[in-house]
Amino acid sequence: MSAKKQGYIFCVANQKGGVGKTTTTINLAAALSALKKKVLLIDLDPQGNATMGSGIDKNSEELSIYQVLIGANTIAECKQRSESGGYDVLGANRELSGAEIDLVQMEKREQQLKQALVHCQADYDFILIDCPPTLSLLTLNGLAAAHGVIIPMQCEYFALEGLSDLVNTIKRVYRNINDDLELIGLLRVMFDGRITLQRQVSEQIEEHFGDKVFNTKIPRNVRLAEAPSHGMPGVVYDKNSTGAKAYMEFGRELIKRLKKKTK
Ligand code: ATP
Ligand code: MG
Repeated sequence: MSAKKQGYIFCVANQKGGVGKTTTTINLAAALSALKKKVLLIDLDPQGNATMGSGIDKNSEELSIYQVLIGANTIAECKQRSESGGYDVLGANRELSGAEIDLVQMEKREQQLKQALVHCQADYDFILIDCPPTLSLLTLNGLAAAHGVIIPMQCEYFALEGLSDLVNTIKRVYRNINDDLELIGLLRVMFDGRITLQRQVSEQIEEHFGDKVFNTKIPRNVRLAEAPSHGMPGVVYDKNSTGAKAYMEFGRELIKRLKKKTK
């Protein structure tokens, strides 16, 4: 990653489903906003969970990331405001699942998001992209546009297995289409230190990935799971919960790490 000139663009990715990507994207966006950073959250998943969890009704939005990817509208035209989270959102809904088909026929099909971001990158300190649980053309658009990848993972037996596919994809994207891309770090989520297996896997991850593992661990916390149904990030919904505090700590750790890097 080259020294920072404009906003950081980070993908939150893991092709495994239900590992906490969306929860991490929403809460990191809210945490960074609370730390006075300007943030744009991009929902790159047709499920639209990050959109809904930011308090925006995915079904009533007429302009979304779909229009941006097919080149019909700019991000400035399609973005909305998460009032609860304090950040901007480029939302998604089911329409996005058709984008793959449209993209396949386009030239530079994996570069569409990157090209669209050129015009608004300078407006933000952080642009966070919530990726779908696939290594699809959508995810590729995210990786092609990003400076780095944050990987949330649960400390479970099979966690490391899928990770090598993702790390290989990141390496391939780095070599072929985006030499700015790097692994920013692995974030342990839904962590329960009382469970021996989780502690063991957590240690294994540290052995394998060293300082690429964030110190902050996000605990399993029901308040984080409840928050989306209220259209709010957990960080805002119950700021005294253990989950909210952990995501705030993660936001601070990320900023500190990036400062160190650019020194
Ligand atoms: P998908 O692959 O479907 O996009 P995902 O990786 O984005 O899933 P989430 O939707 O963030 O994963 O989380 C999966 C489920 O786990 C959700 O119901 C969410 O509320 C819950 N969850 C996530 N993190 C936590 C946590 N730290 N504590 C408790 N529940 C959590
Ligand atoms: Mg998700």
